[in-house]
Amino acid sequence: MKIVCVGRNYVEHAKELGNEVPDEPVIFMKPKTALLQPAASFYYPAFTNELHYECELVLRICKNGHYIQERHASSYYNAITVGIDFTARDVQDICKKKGLPWEKAKAFDGSAAVGNFIDITPDLDKKNIRFSFTKNGERVQQGHSGDMIFSFDSIIAHVSKYFSLNIGDLIFTGTPSGVGECVVGDVLEAFLEEDSLLKLEVK
Ligand code: MG
Repeated sequence: MKIVCVGRNYVEHAKELGNEVPDEPVIFMKPKTALLQPAASFYYPAFTNELHYECELVLRICKNGHYIQERHASSYYNAITVGIDFTARDVQDICKKKGLPWEKAKAFDGSAAVGNFIDITPDLDKKNIRFSFTKNGERVQQGHSGDMIFSFDSIIAHVSKYFSLNIGDLIFTGTPSGVGECVVGDVLEAFLEEDSLLKLEVK
């Protein structure tokens, strides 16, 4: 399986990092080794001094496909959760300045934490999903799927032009504003609507 991530999918987040609002999805990938399952331990990586959380809605692919048309895209994913796109921001800033790839900053072991998935049912309004994220019990991020620049279906259509999607692949759909630093001992928790789907302590 692979993990495809969208960057800068919320206007306010693009601005907070000083980036332009993109006219097509910014995509990057994480390998399978980046996946951190619910209840697995997360260890602060030794190579960074500025680890950031980015809470995101995550989709799970349920059908193989490539060149998926947007109008058919919704049949290619059937489960959703919240996840954390952990980012070594100091390392990423150096990569960006040098024009180098981001993988060291974004795709390291454990950098794609996911919560427990819930099934997407026909009554779920995909443009009206609220999610939030707390650090040590204090809410630091709030997102709404209606604020995404690129919808779930347009992301699937775009990504599958370049990369075949396979059953079990995950799509991180981008983070809203409010990203910030976490340190050893912080307790991070992510909610879909009111439901806590992911909780971990940084070790
Ligand atoms: Mg992200």
